[in-house]
Amino acid sequence: MDDRLFRTAMGKFATGVTVIATDVEGDVHGMTANAFMSVSLSPKLVVISIGEKAKILEKIKQSQTFSVNILAADQQELSMIFAGQIKEPREVSFDRLDGKPVLAGAVAQIACEVSAEHLEGDHTLFIGKVTEIKLEDAEPLLFYSGRYRTLVEESTIPSN
Ligand code: FAD
Ligand code: NAD
Repeated sequence: MDDRLFRTAMGKFATGVTVIATDVEGDVHGMTANAFMSVSLSPKLVVISIGEKAKILEKIKQSQTFSVNILAADQQELSMIFAGQIKEPREVSFDRLDGKPVLAGAVAQIACEVSAEHLEGDHTLFIGKVTEIKLEDAEPLLFYSGRYRTLVEESTIPSN
């Protein structure tokens, strides 16, 4: 099957946008990801999927911890920075949640410890045990058909 057909089809699944972050000996690395899913309520588990060429892969294997930062509508620039879509290096500061680096202003900051990893094809799935969560009251950034989007409130037409 053609790669483009697969990507076009997968792009029809509208998602939020996250930045996964980890640190190795104080050196923080972030990467934009939309392959994120809630897995289990008891225990509280999530999954992320990291490509074999991504630099963050070895860093998560080393640190055994990561955060998932669900981006807000006004954080598209952060998504572009951590996807390498903005080439010039930018200074980004990170807060800490349960010791993990997190992004201020994210809709949700989710601190995780790796509980399992599975190599599947050209990606590694990391199962994260959620250790702490911080929420912010903001609208999310969305990704659909290869483009960033935001939520639009449905306007209701008054019926007579
Ligand atoms: P790099 O390419 O080295 O890092 C990415 C960028 O982040 C670089 O520009 C780097 O300068 C910057 N950066 C990193 N750390 C810092 C820091 N501390 N301060 C400032 N800047 C920093 N790939 C996947 O594997 N899984 C996915 O689920 C996934 N989803 C994606 C969803 C979207 C919407 C997009 C746009 C891309 C997605 N990607 C995904 C692709 C992935 O984001 C890119 O391939 C990314 O460049 C790979 O990052 P890397 O770890 O190789 O690191
Ligand atoms: P795109 O058309 O490449 O992506 C659309 C959808 O296809 C994505 O949402 C994802 O579900 C899937 N996809 C894309 N590349 C994939 C990969 N290498 N492995 C597994 N699934 C993949 O959209 P775009 O705007 O051109 O994406 C920007 C860049 O980010 C591209 O280089 C793309 O490969 C990468 N990306 C990677 C993943 C991933 O590795 N899971 C997810 C999204 C985007």
